[in-house]
Amino acid sequence: MYDVIVIGSGPGGYVAAIRCAQLGMKTAIIEKYPTLGGTCLNVGCIPSKALLDSSEHYHNAAHTFKTHGINLSNLKVDLKQMIARKEDVVKQNVDGISYLMKKNKIDVLQGMGSFVDNTTVKVTKDDGSSENIQGKNIIIATGSKPATLPFIKLDKDRVITSTEALKMKEIPKHLIIIGGGVIGMELGSVYGRMGAKVSVVEFMDGLIPSMDRTMGKELQKSLKKLGFEFYLKHKVTAVENKGKSVSVTAENSKGENVVLEGDYVLVSIGRRPYTDGLNAEAAGVKLTDRGQVEVNDHLQTTAPNIYAIGDVVRGAMLAHKAEEEGTLVAEILAGQKPHINYNLIPGVVYTWPEVAAVGYTEEQLKEKGVKYKTGKFPFMASGRARASMDTDGLVKVLADAETDEILGVHMIGPRTADMIAEAVVAMEYRASAEDIARMSHAHPTYTEAFKEACLAATDNRALHI
Ligand code: FAD
Repeated sequence: MYDVIVIGSGPGGYVAAIRCAQLGMKTAIIEKYPTLGGTCLNVGCIPSKALLDSSEHYHNAAHTFKTHGINLSNLKVDLKQMIARKEDVVKQNVDGISYLMKKNKIDVLQGMGSFVDNTTVKVTKDDGSSENIQGKNIIIATGSKPATLPFIKLDKDRVITSTEALKMKEIPKHLIIIGGGVIGMELGSVYGRMGAKVSVVEFMDGLIPSMDRTMGKELQKSLKKLGFEFYLKHKVTAVENKGKSVSVTAENSKGENVVLEGDYVLVSIGRRPYTDGLNAEAAGVKLTDRGQVEVNDHLQTTAPNIYAIGDVVRGAMLAHKAEEEGTLVAEILAGQKPHINYNLIPGVVYTWPEVAAVGYTEEQLKEKGVKYKTGKFPFMASGRARASMDTDGLVKVLADAETDEILGVHMIGPRTADMIAEAVVAMEYRASAEDIARMSHAHPTYTEAFKEACLAATDNRALHI
């Protein structure tokens, strides 16, 4: 009998297993795929960042090196090598998780986990053989899969998801992306930087619509420079694979049909929680009408000894959110009283410029009726950004009008994915904009833009604009 069985080895599951083992629990983890690490390590965060880095190198070599005084000739992309390097990066990471499982003496069972009852899980291997294992507690960490629309058949040939977009055999001539969210903009950037024409069809009136609207507008400007075309407020009504090409039909806000012809269409309209084959009802685990595992504030399901974490439950579908939840459940099982501040889970888009945010958006503050002040600082005014020729974007700080507490930080610009950590720390300690404005930031760094935006938020006293 295990103390804990974890089903799924993504960032939620493997972190939960490690933390359980650290706390002295006898732990097993079940994974249906041959490699550990889940979506994030195999077909998500890590491979997408590997390709984003490679394509950015190419783009810089082709477009900005000359201005730096570096001349290259015969520059070309070796896509096969680029994908092979990405696969090597994935391998290093998934092997790392296997090592961590061994180090922490966690039993790894390869196979599909399905509930027999609330303490028994059947593990079915690819060859059809199976075994039953028992656990006092069970953590569901089965993640998510790409979503689609009822009339779109994901044939994975021309009509693809992010998974296929990470292993293309050719650079698309014209990549049509359905959905202007994070994954679409990241993968569109990969191929756009390497010469593909990219068209984005989005139902809403802006990109990355869940983020502060300023970010979507700024990102759109930058991606336009890269050659992206946008069809906002367009509702896709049909997608057809024509063999060597695809067509996407969308209805614009005037009710007219617009038809786009391309060679690939990437469907990136979000992800759905994944519980297929889990047989959750056998354990008394209820799903919500959106297909998520229903949980309370302690991530406990409707079966008291079964918990659920990560993409399969409510909240942001992010690896670090899943990790925090994995740790939280392990610590609850050990009798501790952990806490997650969901408002301070940062969100990042790894386009260039990068977009990063934490806390409330301006739209949310308006809706809540909170009185706030805004401080902005454009990267155009940053010496560091001028030196690296990365002057697109800005930092926007939202602070409480009365107390000056920072309520939201929204950044688009160079290396903001890393810069946002300072804002998270500041907000966890409930810093005021004035606190940050009075802290020394190394010069020249991109981080000065955060300090300047805080100066701007407090009596409009930015120094360099
Ligand atoms: P998953 O990582 O989905 O893992 C679930 C695991 O459970 C899978 O391995 C699955 O095979 C296994 N499983 C499912 N059912 C069973 C079963 N019955 N038995 C056994 N095993 C089972 N997030 C970020 O924070 N940053 C990023 O930069 C980022 N980039 C992304 C890029 C792309 C292209 C995609 C698709 C996603 C990205 N994400 C990113 C999201 C991130 O990958 C997810 O939020 C994260 O992986 C969720 O972790 P999880 O542990 O909940 O589930």
